[in-house]
Amino acid sequence: MKDGYSRVIDYLRISVTDRCNLRCIYCMPAEGVGLVGHADILSFEEIIAVVAAGAELGIRKVRLTGGEPLVRLGLCDLVRSLSRLDGIDDVSLSTNGMLLMEYAAELKATGLTRVNISLDSLQPERFRRITRHGDLAKVLAGIEAAQDAGLVPIKINTVVMRGVNDDEVKDLAALARNRRWSIRFIEKMPLAGHQWGYVSSAEVRRQLDSLGPLVPELTEPRNGPARCYRFSGAEGSIGFISPMSEPFCSTCNRLRLTSTGMLRPCLLSDVGAVDLRAALRDGANTAAIQALLIEAASSKLARHSIEGCSHPTTTTMSQIGG
Ligand code: SAM
Ligand code: SF4
Repeated sequence: MKDGYSRVIDYLRISVTDRCNLRCIYCMPAEGVGLVGHADILSFEEIIAVVAAGAELGIRKVRLTGGEPLVRLGLCDLVRSLSRLDGIDDVSLSTNGMLLMEYAAELKATGLTRVNISLDSLQPERFRRITRHGDLAKVLAGIEAAQDAGLVPIKINTVVMRGVNDDEVKDLAALARNRRWSIRFIEKMPLAGHQWGYVSSAEVRRQLDSLGPLVPELTEPRNGPARCYRFSGAEGSIGFISPMSEPFCSTCNRLRLTSTGMLRPCLLSDVGAVDLRAALRDGANTAAIQALLIEAASSKLARHSIEGCSHPTTTTMSQIGG
């Protein structure tokens, strides 16, 4: 499936819940967000029907996200079903890691290929402050459990925030020296009205200069939004995800499905969003679902314009599905 700018769309990011066991300061208000009822969330059967229809159109990769996907009961059953669908060759997960120790082995056994874990600090107290409820030791143990289970390559995502954790980028980058992990520094997006704390990838890179030269990795241009580098002799890599300073729209290969069944062409734009839940509950068959997937893909904009987007003031990443 191609969009109107000849980009191949082969990746679907699926938010399986808007609920979360943490309240990261850049993602959610302390009191959480108004939760949607269970009946309004797509069932596993509905999600599987969408992915099966998408696979026939060329969707090859699926990422489960949220909210926190591991708080949705039975997630491993969903992983098992998705990983068995014809055409789907990669089912991955974005998680805050709090429940990973418990689920890593089962996730691997049911067909999950890999995990991305959010980790914004290596200091327990600070980690708790950033996430409001998080337990660093649990998350680190979860990362080790994922590694032991073979959910590799392990990718660690850090949102860099001025005055909050920007003094830790070297410590976090150092994790990539001895571990085969990819440490990815993400530019904070001004979602939900949070204008504070932005630090550009260029600034983070300057901080890392003192650790030695970063050699660019030869990666496929369509291998995701991160620009990847490696310190000479290091086991792991360093990535920069720069939605603000260097948008990666020209290589965007994805559609997003929110937990309530809105199919979104772009994280940062409402343009072309399609209500798949209404269609599914109206009895849409595979061909009808495929027509809606194609409609959403055709509506993808050439690039996002965060300034013109409604989310910076209204919606959190956990609601759209990060
Ligand atoms: N709960 C899971 C987690 O934290 O990894 C999955 C969902 S979370 C919304 C997905 C990703 O979005 C995380 O890596 C998180 O750091 C990122 N994120 C959330 N709000 C963001 C923001 N305002 N700017 C940049 N990244 C953000
Ligand atoms: Fe929850 Fe992930 Fe948002 Fe943190 S970033 S509040 S863990 S959804």
